[in-house]
Amino acid sequence: MNCRFTPSKELLDRITKIYPTPFHLYSEAEIKSRAANLNKAFSWNKNYKEYYAVKACPTPGIIEILKDQNCGVDCASLCELILADRLGFRGDDIMFSSNETPGGEYSYAKKLGAVINLDDFSMIDFLEQECGLPDKICLRYNPGGELKLGNFVMGNPQDAKFGMTRDQIFEGAEKCLSRGVKKLGLHAFLASNTIDESYYPTNAAILMRLAADLIKTFGCEIFMINLSGGIGIPYRPEQEAPDIYRISDGVRREYESILAPVTKNDVCIASELGRYMTGPAGILVSKIIHKKHTHKEYLGLDSCAADLMRPAMYGAYHHITIPGKENAPLTDKYDVVGSLCENNDKFAVDRPLPKCEIGDYVIIHDTGAHGRSMGYNYNGRLRCAEVLLKEDGTFELIRRAETPEDYFATLDMTGYFSDIKNLT
Ligand SMILES: *Cc1c(COP(=O)(O)O)cnc(C)c1O
Repeated sequence: MNCRFTPSKELLDRITKIYPTPFHLYSEAEIKSRAANLNKAFSWNKNYKEYYAVKACPTPGIIEILKDQNCGVDCASLCELILADRLGFRGDDIMFSSNETPGGEYSYAKKLGAVINLDDFSMIDFLEQECGLPDKICLRYNPGGELKLGNFVMGNPQDAKFGMTRDQIFEGAEKCLSRGVKKLGLHAFLASNTIDESYYPTNAAILMRLAADLIKTFGCEIFMINLSGGIGIPYRPEQEAPDIYRISDGVRREYESILAPVTKNDVCIASELGRYMTGPAGILVSKIIHKKHTHKEYLGLDSCAADLMRPAMYGAYHHITIPGKENAPLTDKYDVVGSLCENNDKFAVDRPLPKCEIGDYVIIHDTGAHGRSMGYNYNGRLRCAEVLLKEDGTFELIRRAETPEDYFATLDMTGYFSDIKNLT
């Protein structure tokens, strides 16, 4: 059983005196230690850089913790770039790994000095026409086929919309270099949420062999091998957390055997981890507001898929615990559900839990990445607040809960909605 971020009932009582449920609660200590360990594991690479995938948790109070740990940011949209800009990220501390990129976003990224990662061959002309090519460019590779480790299929690049083919990488490299680009980087994201420790080394070997072939063909400088995201976390209690030191060691071995012999410069190994960095450091704290007994037993929460969409969207497993009943036997079986008028709004189905009562807290674990950020406003449901539990034991609201005013803010119906404050 993994050690999970599990605050006591007493602490939750203190927090909910000020901030009522539901809310996502993040552990500053956990985020810090994950970032510090990652950087330590990759310290063999002089220019190593983690670019936190902003989409996983685009909250300044979280990203600032990572910034202090020397992480950069990986952005893919206008608003993510604005966030990076306002938080003071510049130049090589920003990756712009977008796809189907609307006009204007490359200009903004270039103005910030971000490392631009092109998802497609046609983007070279598009970028050049929009704002001219920068001195260094990263190209996103898609090898096609299946990504296999032994007999196990880890990912399906052939079905992924991202990246370019090997031929396009070569043609693209030639095009970039002939138009004044000085240095090239390579990027690939071939498997998602993978706790198998051989994924990163496998991805590294694929990219480094490609880099070596580019160096041989063009004599160009490769400045970055970007392994992107994809390192998984143990959502299920029976799963083991991957060991970042063993992962890094596997990458180092590939570097030493494939890249070191053909490069003079220190190539930057980059990552764009989202889930691995903050996933286990966040929980959704909710309360049981109803119990329902029909053909099954239901626990109705004050939260719903608006705050955490992964179970509804992918049938994803999130571990659930009941504070104050940590040691109680799992005698009952419940569907733990939210309030959306959608039958997939279930945080858990047939989950063994201790006997639960209305008013009990429910902790849904591992919501620190792709949790609040993936939420939505279906059914007019409002997304919950985010609270940071600091290292010194104090806590701070880092994003307030949405209000009806937020929900109606995009409508120009002042006459109808100007009084909503008085309704709530
Ligand atoms: C989503 C994404 C990531 C982060 O993925 P995780 O699964 O959170 O590690 C990194 N890079 C790119 C380009 C992405 O789209």
